[in-house]
Amino acid sequence: MVSARGPADDVGGICGETAALHLACASIHRGEEPPITGIGGSGAIFVSGCNLGCVFCQNHQISRRFPDRRMAYGAGVTAREFARICRALKERGAENINIVTGSHAVPVLAEYLKTAFTGPGDALPVLWNSSAYELPQTLELLSGIVDAFLPDLKTLDSGLSSRFFRAPDYPQTAKTAILKMLDMMKNRATASVAASPAGTGGGLPAVIVRHLVLPGFLESTRNVLYWFAENCAGIRGVELSLMFQYTPVPAGAAAHLPPGPPGTVSGDEYDTVLGWLSEYGIEDGYCQEPVPDSAGWLPDFEKANPFPSELSLPVWHWREGFL
Ligand code: SF4
Repeated sequence: MVSARGPADDVGGICGETAALHLACASIHRGEEPPITGIGGSGAIFVSGCNLGCVFCQNHQISRRFPDRRMAYGAGVTAREFARICRALKERGAENINIVTGSHAVPVLAEYLKTAFTGPGDALPVLWNSSAYELPQTLELLSGIVDAFLPDLKTLDSGLSSRFFRAPDYPQTAKTAILKMLDMMKNRATASVAASPAGTGGGLPAVIVRHLVLPGFLESTRNVLYWFAENCAGIRGVELSLMFQYTPVPAGAAAHLPPGPPGTVSGDEYDTVLGWLSEYGIEDGYCQEPVPDSAGWLPDFEKANPFPSELSLPVWHWREGFL
């Protein structure tokens, strides 16, 4: 039995969490990159809390404490409950277990993931979907547990990371983390997905570096692309994913957040970024189509299915339990 936490719960450090694991929801996701979504969908598990504080966080209901509520949405789960959630995702067709924003909960997640399935033949591949604001020694705890890393590389400009993520050390920390992930995965260029129930027959990349383009801050994107080209491009199993879905969080929904960049990525900005991909010789990866209005995609974790139904099949929710 899970217990949804109430306003009186104690919260810990900057992530808003304690050493216990709190989850917001678990669902079959179809909006990830093709090898992640596969045929059956990705088994996404959204962890409550976050060690960054992006001003434009679309998941702000679960990633941070609200001034008036003192905490993010979520329910505490035990190892046994976590395993039940993983198995429920598998039964609904998930091709992998996709841990979303668990950087602040690595010790407990590493422990729970080790026992989530009964054995190697039963297990799904585990994906680590994070901001890359992680130390190498933290990532070491995931060695032998994670089958693929999906780190963000949000910016290499510490002025921007201070302004938008309240983390001036983000650029150096994220670069070091991604290089660590490459090192951890170097003997595993492409993971087999033979164990996946739907059996796509394709390969799961070892590392997908994701970058969200911010409107009006293209020089930041250019620096990220250059760094990727110098350090990651051409390595087998390592790919880039460019995302253009940036949407300001509506003021009414997130009045407690300082404003992020206004507007969305323009057509000219999109074309400029594509030109840089050619200029830097980046060929392996994924590029989202322009998204003129993604406000409808903003999740609402008050709902049993926080995401649009075409993108997500809910399996478990912090307040509703199994669905
Ligand atoms: S890292 Fe992700 S979950 Fe955390 S605040 Fe930033 S956008 Fe939100």
